[in-house]
Amino acid sequence: MKVLITEYLRIDLDTEQWECRHCGRVHGPARENYKKFMLIHARNPQEVHRPLLNPELYPAYNFSPDPKVCAIYEYYCPDCATMIEAEYTVPGHMPLHDIEYDIDALKVQWSTREEITEGGTGPDNKRPANCSTHGHHHGHSHAQHGGQA
Ligand SMILES: [Zn+2]
Repeated sequence: MKVLITEYLRIDLDTEQWECRHCGRVHGPARENYKKFMLIHARNPQEVHRPLLNPELYPAYNFSPDPKVCAIYEYYCPDCATMIEAEYTVPGHMPLHDIEYDIDALKVQWSTREEITEGGTGPDNKRPANCSTHGHHHGHSHAQHGGQA
């Protein structure tokens, strides 16, 4: 059973490994930070977000992040070079451990479910067939609130 985690990451619950959803590469143990198994490109934030104002006139406030306080790390799959994640953090900080699942709980949760191999819109996000984006308000009634006694 493989569980989709992000657009480019999934966890194989049988092997407890992170996998690339694009090329199928087995990255490493799902109980560890997946970023340990990625290629990391530390970007110059001023290259990613160029100054919108003249930096000679506005050295501090030109809408471009100061590399002394902002670091941008891009994480790539070592096999297919798909960008898995981009992270904004502070210089010198370890890669953030942003996805940490309780693998044992995940196994219990998915033990009664069908495997999903492609992402999509879940049933909770589907609009009822008789509902439109404009027109009347649906869902609940205001008539019973604040009624007159
Ligand atoms: Zn890959």
